[in-house]
Amino acid sequence: MVTATRPENKVKIGPTQLLINNKWVESASGKRFETINPSTGEVICDVAEADAADVDKAVIAARNAFNQGDWPKLSATQRGQLLYKLADLIEANIEELARLETLDNGKPYQDSLNADLQLVIACYRYYAGWADKIQGKTIPINGPYFCYTRHEPVGVVGQIIPWNFPLLMQAWKLAPALAAGNTVVMKTAEQTPLSALRLGELILEAGFPPGVVNLLSGYGPTAGQAIARHHDIDKVAFTGSTEVGHLIMEAAAQTNLKRVTLELGGKSPNIVFADANLEQAIEGAHFGLFFNQGQCCCAGSRLFVEEKCYDEFVAKSVERAKQRIVGDPFDDNTAQGSQVDRTQFDKVMEYIESGQREGAKLLCGGGRVGDRGYFIEPTVFAEVKDNMKIAQEEIFGPVMSIIKFKDMDEVIQRTNDTVYGLAAAVWTQDISKGHAIANALRAGTVWVNCYDVFDAAAPFGGFKQSGMGRELGEYGLQQYTEIKTVTVKL
Ligand code: ADP
Repeated sequence: MVTATRPENKVKIGPTQLLINNKWVESASGKRFETINPSTGEVICDVAEADAADVDKAVIAARNAFNQGDWPKLSATQRGQLLYKLADLIEANIEELARLETLDNGKPYQDSLNADLQLVIACYRYYAGWADKIQGKTIPINGPYFCYTRHEPVGVVGQIIPWNFPLLMQAWKLAPALAAGNTVVMKTAEQTPLSALRLGELILEAGFPPGVVNLLSGYGPTAGQAIARHHDIDKVAFTGSTEVGHLIMEAAAQTNLKRVTLELGGKSPNIVFADANLEQAIEGAHFGLFFNQGQCCCAGSRLFVEEKCYDEFVAKSVERAKQRIVGDPFDDNTAQGSQVDRTQFDKVMEYIESGQREGAKLLCGGGRVGDRGYFIEPTVFAEVKDNMKIAQEEIFGPVMSIIKFKDMDEVIQRTNDTVYGLAAAVWTQDISKGHAIANALRAGTVWVNCYDVFDAAAPFGGFKQSGMGRELGEYGLQQYTEIKTVTVKL
């Protein structure tokens, strides 16, 4: 591990109130909460704290916007144009947004700029293009009838997003919802409210009508829960932990059976066969685990390596991890910034302790970097066994666990033995093996000889307890429409 530092970077802070009905307002309670810079532990500013009363207000605005006014009158093409305009505005303000993202989240500025923001812009443009291509079918039913389907918006959509990719998770949720003509009440993560609020200003500038997008900063058990339980929200889309995913479904079941889509946790297997291009596999596994400080729901956190190349792979992976530059996220050389907050930092450190306690071999890292902020050394464990906590639970930090396997049948059985099924990867030069693994793994995404390849057009989501429904692509769009069948007697 190498450390980096760099002089202070001035970041412009955007709005800090709630966006309801196209107006910036304080919360009903008047309460505010602090958001911190995780690289220093210092308070950046405070923001208005939404609770149930603010959710009610936002839902009324969203319902009115859905039923009447300019939004339902817009043509599909016009909705697309608004989304294109928003994408252009994001592009025009890309550096400012990337700086704000880094300040509030702790991720490297270069990643915010070149990964997150690029994907954000592409996502809005992709769904802008879909707006006027949402089509039903004509169906040849029996009898003298003309039967067709319409794909209509679901209505008022509640969206709850996490802190690991604040602007990108906002884009994954807002873009398809708006392309399909829904209105939105979104709660951002309490750790990272700022970039979404700045985006709210751009939403106003783009010209979205009042009430179409409402943005609330606030906590999960209060504002989040109020969204999940609300009787006048037609659908809730959630990204976060599997534990909270259960609560969201429960709340929907106990209230109005709102539609639910969930993108939840993972413990993704990354399988390396001895016939792989080892250099590429080592680099891919490094990226697939350490990217975004290990704070990815699809992180390749169960790294299965074939016995024949295990020792070489481990030795080289340790060398690679030691070279990773950790430090000030505003330094252009930094590859790894800060974990998002104290809670996550402590959680990751506990997992590192548990790995050692349970007998995994700690080969590098394991400690804190510096004495302020929440930086953790890139950490590699070898000799990890399937039943260890670090091989079973989502760590959400820079902790690589390398596990040995003997052959293909065994590794398929072992990798599928988990409650999760979000993503997986395989490294091999044998194309048949690559496809066989891709077919056999119970996961929503399988990467072959690559990792973390995302595109707005490619659906993403989980099998099993990693979620339900898909985001991105045409499948992601479908989650934001209801199908109406119309039958006309001829
Ligand atoms: P993490 O542990 O990574 O923060 P969470 O699942 O707790 O993941 O959080 C993801 C999002 O879900 C955040 O916006 C958070 O505020 C929200 N959230 C947390 N608890 C609840 C809840 N009980 N109901 C609704 N939303 C919640």
